[in-house]
Order: sequence, then C-alpha cells, then structure tokens
Amino acid sequence: MKNIAIRKSKLAALNSKHPWIFSGAILTDTSAYEDGELVRCVDPFENFLAIGHFQPGSIAVRVLSFEDIPINQDFWNKRINNAVEMRRKQGLISEDNQICRLVHGEGDNLPGLIIDYYNGVAILQAHAVGMFLSAEYIVEALKAALGDELKAVYSKCKETLPNRVDVENEYLFGEVAVPHIAKENGIPFSINWISGQKTGFFIDQRNNRKLLANYCKDKKVLNTFCYSGGFSLYALKAGASQVDSLDSSQKAIELVEENVSLNKLEDKHNTIVADAVKYVHNLETDYDVIVLDPPAFAKHRDKRHKAIKAYTRLNANAIRQIKPGGIIFTFSCSQVVDKFLFNKAVIAAAIQCGRNVRILEQLHQPSDHPVNAFHPEGEYLKGLVIQVD
Ligand code: SAH
Repeated sequence: MKNIAIRKSKLAALNSKHPWIFSGAILTDTSAYEDGELVRCVDPFENFLAIGHFQPGSIAVRVLSFEDIPINQDFWNKRINNAVEMRRKQGLISEDNQICRLVHGEGDNLPGLIIDYYNGVAILQAHAVGMFLSAEYIVEALKAALGDELKAVYSKCKETLPNRVDVENEYLFGEVAVPHIAKENGIPFSINWISGQKTGFFIDQRNNRKLLANYCKDKKVLNTFCYSGGFSLYALKAGASQVDSLDSSQKAIELVEENVSLNKLEDKHNTIVADAVKYVHNLETDYDVIVLDPPAFAKHRDKRHKAIKAYTRLNANAIRQIKPGGIIFTFSCSQVVDKFLFNKAVIAAAIQCGRNVRILEQLHQPSDHPVNAFHPEGEYLKGLVIQVD
C-alpha cells in the first residue's frame, strides 16, 4: 500500500476526525496513484495517521479508519454488521418496515458508500471508486450480516460514477424480479431499482410521511414532486377526501398509480403531470394540505443564493394559495442550504404573502441516515410543517 504524506500545517484538521482529506493537505506527488486504491496517510515523519481510499480531485482521500488496521474481509464484516444491527434496533428490518437505508456513507463510517434495502434486496451505490472496487467484500459482508434474509445485491453505480470506471449496473448476488413489493410503516410499495430514480424509492421521508397522515383526515391534499407517491399513500390511508399527486415526470406518475392501485385506493386519487413551480403559482383549487418536496435546487455552494430564492418563490406561491388554516409540509434536500437558511427562506415567503404563518414542526432526515458528528455535511434533509392562518 502506498503512503501519502500530509502537510504539517494540516495535521490539526485530521485530529478532528473529518473523514475527508483535501488535495491541498497532501505533500506527496500522487500523479501515479490509481483512483480508488487504498493508501496510508502519514505525517512528514512517516507516523501513521489514517487509512483510506485515494481519489484524484479535491477530496483526495476518504478515510476508512484512523486506526492502523488491515482493510480485509473482517473490517468490512464489522462495519456492515454494525450498520445492519443499528437498523434492526431501530425496527427498520421488520415485518412492517422492510425499507431502509442500510449504509449511509460517512454516517456509517463508510465514506462514499450507499446501500438501500428493500425487503431482502440490497442496492449498492458507490460514490467513490474505492467503494466500487470493494464490492466483493461488501457483498460477502452483507451476506454475513443478513444471512438468509438477503436475496439479492444489485450494483447501481453507472449513474454515480460517470466516466470514472468501466461499470455496468448488475446483480452481484442473486436476482429478484422487479417491481418488488416492500412495506414502509405497513404500507406496501412497488419498487423498481432498475428503472427508478436513485435506488428506486425515497427512503428518507419515512417519518415525515407518517406525520403527514395526522393532518389528512377529510382533507384535500396536493402532493407536489410526488415521485412514486409516498406522501400520497399515507394521506389516502389516513382518510383524505381527495389527493392530487403531481410530478413533471410521466414515469413517476405511472409509479404513483401503480402504488395507489396496489393499495386499492384509486377512488379519491388524481394525478397531474406538470411543472410544480408553475402549477402552484396558478393554483385554482383550494387545498387544505400541500406537500412541497422538490429535488435539490442547489448541488453546489455557488448555486446556493439562487436556490434560496427558488425555495422562497415556491413556498410563497403555496402560502398565498392555500386555504385559511391550511398546512404545508415543505422540504429542502439541498445539502448546501442548511436548516437555518431554509427556515429563513420560508419566513421570507410568509412575509411576502402577508399571511400569518406558524411553524408547527421542524423535520429532518431519519435515523437510518445518520450524521457522523465529525462530518456535518452529512446532514441534508430539512423540512417544516407550517400552518397558514
Ligand atoms: N416526494 C417524493 C420524492 C421527491 S423526488 C417521495 O416522497 O418519494 C423529486 C421529484 O420531483 C422527482 O420525482 C422529479 O421527477 C420531480 N420533479 C423535478 N422537477 C420537477 C418540477 N419542476 N415539477 C414537478 N416535479 C418535478
């Protein structure tokens, strides 16, 4: 394994146990290093600091361990088992909850690795070549941690590692036909990891969907940016008088329809294919409850200002249009827009509309998307439940 020497002036940063080492901290010439190879980080006197995956670019090393341990099958087994046991304790591998994020990258001390789990099927998404190259170990570790419960492992890295490695999306173990049914809080969903967005389902909204149910009895609900209809299903089950699911993607709408009919809840459900921003701006119906769950408006810091404006505009339109006493579930999954900035954007929207708005709940990502205390960047999902008086 090759060494990488860290500049003396950057050693203090390593003490904070942040799992990323930036290229500016590196003394060694790494031009001949391979993307994804394991490296030992050392101080200028060759003392061990950390071990991790090298990658060319701004984040040069993603740290696997700050202890000098071998990165062998035993290492992978321990890390993955740890992650699986944590979800078991959270009740997320159970009869009623068959959908969870098994591994959340840095939050599970496995930087660059995402594994989502749908009733026996693990979908692996590597955001670092080192993780992609470790897939064989990861599959063995999943088998060891889940035993017979594990039916298949599907690698879906083509989208997450574009132009980085020669990669096809494929089963690494077993094979399960899609769509596959898995339950969230007892509600069955049809999931297709092959043709769906991300790994097939937005797992991070589980708790927020459950909370939405409390507000929906006999209410008229608009679920914008609905994807496969997670929020819609909870609203319908809770006895909403009408649920309109809106997405700009026809394919997403087909998924909602599939999930609504799987649950035999077609009666009170409508779908709309449209641009949510325009639709909410020109809203003609009086809704009691509106869900706003857009994709990340800013993926990079330089787009943050524009994103905040876009959140304000979207929320202002919903606040302006909703019935008196109406409830808005509003979210941002842009990592670069933190919860304080997002709250400000929503408050600015309320001020623009001249309506009284009260914040009832502050929402965030669930416990199967843990945030490593030394990697605050892992916090990305935030939301508010507001009442418009
Ligand atoms: N709320 C969903 C997840 C939302 S993901 C859930 O609980 O599963 C974001 C969705 O927004 C995607 O389905 C995407 O197709 C849709 N989308 C992106 N831009 C849009 C736009 N301008 N108008 C409407 N939908 C949009």
